[in-house]
Amino acid sequence: MNRRKFLAVVTGGVAVASGVTQVALPACASESAAGRPDEQIGVLVDTTTCIGCRKCEYACARANRPEGVSVKQFDDMSVLDTPRRMTAGTLTVVNRYVNPADAARPIYVKVQCMHCLRPCCVSACIVGALHRESNGSVSYDASKCIGCRYCMLACPFEVPTYEYNNVFTPVVSKCTFCYDTMQARGEPPACVQMCPPNCFTFAKRSELIALAHAKIEAAPDVYYDRVYGETEVGGTSWLYLTSRPATELGLLDLPDKPTPQLTETLQHGIFKYGIPPLLLYGLLGIVMKVSAAEEETDASKESVQ
Ligand code: SF4
Ligand code: SF4
Ligand code: SF4
Repeated sequence: MNRRKFLAVVTGGVAVASGVTQVALPACASESAAGRPDEQIGVLVDTTTCIGCRKCEYACARANRPEGVSVKQFDDMSVLDTPRRMTAGTLTVVNRYVNPADAARPIYVKVQCMHCLRPCCVSACIVGALHRESNGSVSYDASKCIGCRYCMLACPFEVPTYEYNNVFTPVVSKCTFCYDTMQARGEPPACVQMCPPNCFTFAKRSELIALAHAKIEAAPDVYYDRVYGETEVGGTSWLYLTSRPATELGLLDLPDKPTPQLTETLQHGIFKYGIPPLLLYGLLGIVMKVSAAEEETDASKESVQ
């Protein structure tokens, strides 16, 4: 069980124990908080033209963590042998998939935060460290973050990661859409600017959806007839055109409606019933200690046998 699943199970247990699972709440950020989707910007990723060069990864690293980043680090294509997820220091990754229609031409898919129209991470954050900006970017303010990691549990795309290096300055890590850097200067995000075959279109989301459907209509033999992100969990700012069903390409199969989130229920329950977060963490600590003790007992039993 990975850390994300472990925390989900544990917080679920605590929620049940606290009797807060019956709290009826909207799942994710409300429509009004999301603003008018047709006025907001987005990126259309045409995966059929991606060559897997990792230049977008390099551009992102250079824009966000410039110290010690060199283009050479991104020449290593062996990393594409295994599907990857984002890490604390890597806000976007490109993955390679076998193309059943043409084995000689694999399919490459760049992933990052989807900048949801109704972001569950924002509604799960109890201190407002995550915020949906009026242009659709979901930004993060590390100075407000208390390191509770509710956002990690809430995100249906499993995007946010956590820097464990320094316990006193918790930092959640995810793509910022270059909101306060490139976009603040009126430029497209760094990854969009760098892509050699121009896989990305940066424009108003409503225009991107129209463009995506026009492309599908013009070349039905090239594109699978669905725009990933148009409706998933209420819609996302990053949209994908693919030649295969998106779920064959590492993009998660998600419902159109933002799903009820355990963490949001828990979080609102905490406040509704006046359960202080410290109590929650106390309970989490007990559960973790018990499971560690059980693991130790199991290990010593095995060594005796
Ligand atoms: S993909 Fe996850 S982290 Fe990004 S905006 Fe949506 S819920 Fe938040
Ligand atoms: S939009 Fe900016 S932060 Fe997000 S993946 Fe692209 S370069 Fe990285
Ligand atoms: S820079 Fe463009 S072509 Fe290269 S891996 Fe990224 S999306 Fe694909």
